[in-house]
Amino acid sequence: MSFKIAEKMDYDRKQTKLDAEGYKPNKAKYAKDFYEFDFNKKYLCPFCLELNEGYKFNSNHGYFRCPNCKNQMMLKTLNNILSMSNTEFAKWVFDYRLNGFWDKIPDFEKWNNNLYILGISREFWEEYKKLRGDSKNDREEWL
Ligand SMILES: [Zn+2]
Repeated sequence: MSFKIAEKMDYDRKQTKLDAEGYKPNKAKYAKDFYEFDFNKKYLCPFCLELNEGYKFNSNHGYFRCPNCKNQMMLKTLNNILSMSNTEFAKWVFDYRLNGFWDKIPDFEKWNNNLYILGISREFWEEYKKLRGDSKNDREEWL
């Protein structure tokens, strides 16, 4: 684990506190942000594009593990994904690609199909290709 990730995990841990009732805001003054976790809310995992209720995610040191693809992500990511527009999501994936976004995807065909089912496929790929600065149609070239 890189220092940066460890640092980030430590930072995230300060944001939330687990007790018998679930995640509670950290009232401490040093907490800059608090990303609330709702056990009954459905979260969209960016790596498999499956929606699952919060309680199905396993949390571990500030990271949340998707019950479907088993990828781990920060709570901030789960919350951000839900508030992103389709083009913002494309930008997010584009920025993430150099840090192995596509390597984390268990099944590209399924991922791409879920993108279609969610109704964001066209906007996503239009934006992604725009960011790439080309209009290549070959799937491998997109990644
Ligand atoms: Zn997943």
